Amino acid sequence: MNATPLIVCSGLRRTYRMGQHEVVALDGIDLRIDAGEFVAIVGPSGSGKSTLMYLLGCLDSPSGGSYRLRAEEVAHLDDAALSRLRNREIGYVFQQFFLLPDLDVVENVALGQAYGGAPRAQRRPVAIDLLTTVGLGERLGHRPQELSGGQMQRVAIARSLAMDPHLILADEPTGNLDTVTSAEIMALLRRLHAGGKTVVLVTHDREVARQADRVITLVDGAIRSDERNERAQADGPALAQQITRIARSGRLGFIDLLRMALREGVLAHKLRSLLTMLGIIFGIAAVIAMTAITEGGKRQQIEALRQIGMNTVRIRADELAGAQLMRARRLNPTGLSPEDLEAIATDVEGVEAATGWKRAPAEIRHGDRSIERAPVLGVIGAFQTVTDYHVAQGRFIDAGDQERFARVCVLGPAVADALELGPDPIGAVVVVGQEPFIVVGVMQRKAFGSAAIADIAIADRTRQVFVPYATMRRHFPRAQTASQLDAADFAMRSEDILLPASALMEHMIGALHHGAEDTTVSVPLEKLKQAQETKEVFNVIIVVIAGISLVVGGIGIMNIMLATVTERTHEIGIRRAIGASRAAIMAQFLAESALIAACGGLIGLGGGVLGGHLVRMLFGFPVAFSPVIMLVAAGVSMGVGLVFGLYPAWMAAQRDPVESLRA
Ligand code: ADP
Ligand code: MG
Repeated sequence: MNATPLIVCSGLRRTYRMGQHEVVALDGIDLRIDAGEFVAIVGPSGSGKSTLMYLLGCLDSPSGGSYRLRAEEVAHLDDAALSRLRNREIGYVFQQFFLLPDLDVVENVALGQAYGGAPRAQRRPVAIDLLTTVGLGERLGHRPQELSGGQMQRVAIARSLAMDPHLILADEPTGNLDTVTSAEIMALLRRLHAGGKTVVLVTHDREVARQADRVITLVDGAIRSDERNERAQADGPALAQQITRIARSGRLGFIDLLRMALREGVLAHKLRSLLTMLGIIFGIAAVIAMTAITEGGKRQQIEALRQIGMNTVRIRADELAGAQLMRARRLNPTGLSPEDLEAIATDVEGVEAATGWKRAPAEIRHGDRSIERAPVLGVIGAFQTVTDYHVAQGRFIDAGDQERFARVCVLGPAVADALELGPDPIGAVVVVGQEPFIVVGVMQRKAFGSAAIADIAIADRTRQVFVPYATMRRHFPRAQTASQLDAADFAMRSEDILLPASALMEHMIGALHHGAEDTTVSVPLEKLKQAQETKEVFNVIIVVIAGISLVVGGIGIMNIMLATVTERTHEIGIRRAIGASRAAIMAQFLAESALIAACGGLIGLGGGVLGGHLVRMLFGFPVAFSPVIMLVAAGVSMGVGLVFGLYPAWMAAQRDPVESLRA
């Protein structure tokens, strides 16, 4: 006979406060149980049997006295250590079986191994082995609900053995079973005992108690009698654990946590999870779609700016009328002139190239094809360089053309197409207005954005016809009061001289025009920056709206998680009994809320991208998705889940395991 004391209780007390008075559930228990004993605890209902079992199982702490398990004073252990004890040293079997309904039989049995940190590859084989041992080899894929009471209790026994504990605590394991099934379960427990386990079982059935080696009778929280039985024989082979003690890290792995949260938290209630995610989904989708639209607009404007020329200063002749026009032309008859262009290009420091143009719509014809009021531009200077728009075929207008007043033209590709000039239009003669012009070049094909930067419109230059400015002045009729040039663009050396250069140009033009105030100097890049600054306000509004939506989503998650924690009271108790520490419970519920939020974030991300593309397709807005914003959005949504899941998870972790099981 083995005489190592496994359990030593002395003066063990457990009292409950019930309002004013104190209920004494256990009133000074002195008890020693040796390793390898098979003890039955009997007594009337309310005598404290379950209370004693919870104390022995380290699920509850005594109000007084001492309990030593393997010579270790349990009262001195913290939650992590107690959880480890429950996980490795103690196997529970309850009257209500307490299996987790969302897990199949094998997963139920393997759960304790997950909390013990046993390697994944080992768990299923061990669980299947145990289930086979208790006679359920044919029921492996079943859910608990599909089993009879006796079968469920066999699963529970298999589960109690998963970490190969020394002590099996069974609280009325046959209480919910018929006589025949009870006998089978008792036979199983006796075989476990024969295999070396210490078994302590609570029963109020004398017949069941007779099968133990020793019967302790509790009355009113105190031991009334403690008797030894005739040693009963196991009526089957001893159930020694076939598996050698399981290798384990002692902690629930991260992957297990995620799997648990995904399967039991998110997927177990799909619709509810989805509804919970809605706030996050909308918040994230809104941010993604809206930022994509503003970003798209921004890029389009930058593209537009690139078409004007990044570092350019533009002088535009104002469109004047009536008295203003009269006054302006009296002071400066020419308006914006090629001489101004020349003067500014030479006198202002940092001008790299300059061009100017005059627009005069005219009919253009070739054979029987014609375009009415085609935008004909008389250009001067380095047009190609400044506008970064070049010929694809032939050449552009040069200084020689200007000197000779040459009747040559360069066509935008759309014009060449419309006139059906064929693959080799160079040398063709087209009629511009009344005069024949020789085509010397065709411009490249290029998409000109339709966007305007502030008030600077972008023309579609593929539809324009370019002629020498000098030729235009000679051949095209014009109003006496018209400005000689419509606009002049100056490409500057660098971005930082744009503002001083434009100020200087404004000053020079003022002097050259004798204060006529007939031109406007502008820096497109500056206008773009201003336009984008106004959009920043818009961005702030988006962020605020999204923030509110995320907070609302977070509160939704918190609400559902709080409900979940209440709903899953039993589950929490079961997990604690199997060996989950408070930290593990907290981590589980936190992982669930974070996962719900992260899923919401991902769906929102998809929705935002879809929405953005939809807006692009329906309204033609350009969209641009920023990976950084997407990453931040995903992170933020998960953060929301963590933050708002914190309180419910903490609540879950604080749940008293015994109260959870008794609920
Ligand atoms: P048994 O399992 O022998 O039927 P219990 O151990 O469940 O008895 O209960 C012992 C006593 O402790 C009973 O009087 C019961 O009402 C009381 N008791 C148990 N749990 C609580 C509790 N949470 N609050 C107050 N009294 C309790
Ligand atoms: Mg009880």
